[in-house]
Amino acid sequence: MRVNGISDVKFAVDVMLGSLAKWLRILGFDTFYSNNIGDNQLLEFAWREKRILLSRDHQLINGVNPEQALLIESKNMPQQLRQVVSAFHLGNAVALFSRCVDCNVKVVPIDKAMIEKKIPAFVYQNYNEFWICSQCGQIFWPGTHKTLAEKWLVENKILV
Ligand SMILES: [Zn+2]
Repeated sequence: MRVNGISDVKFAVDVMLGSLAKWLRILGFDTFYSNNIGDNQLLEFAWREKRILLSRDHQLINGVNPEQALLIESKNMPQQLRQVVSAFHLGNAVALFSRCVDCNVKVVPIDKAMIEKKIPAFVYQNYNEFWICSQCGQIFWPGTHKTLAEKWLVENKILV
């Protein structure tokens, strides 16, 4: 597969790699993950949507065009994430919390006044930028979770 710029990279993640999938979404990348899908379905879905298959299973990866799959080497999640970020040069394309971790859709900015009743008062008072997931309605703001995530990414040498 020819990747036309980093923003086009999309992943399909094997059922065994749930934490990796979650973190790829936190980093802002389009990541398909389901714990309710068979190997063949996953392969077909990845192929149809031109998604790069991420798996620790040699046999699953074997039949796939090498440009469309990456064998994840480590059992250790930070190392897995480091491998993916490094293999696809994702470092500069990271957009933390720009995607809903549950739904895998991009969150969109929402006017503060529209959501006053839906968020804690101290959050309303302390933040001015908010985003919403159009699918599940979750509201996001640049709180401490973002600072903690940045710290974790640097500590684990995933982002430098
Ligand atoms: Zn959502």
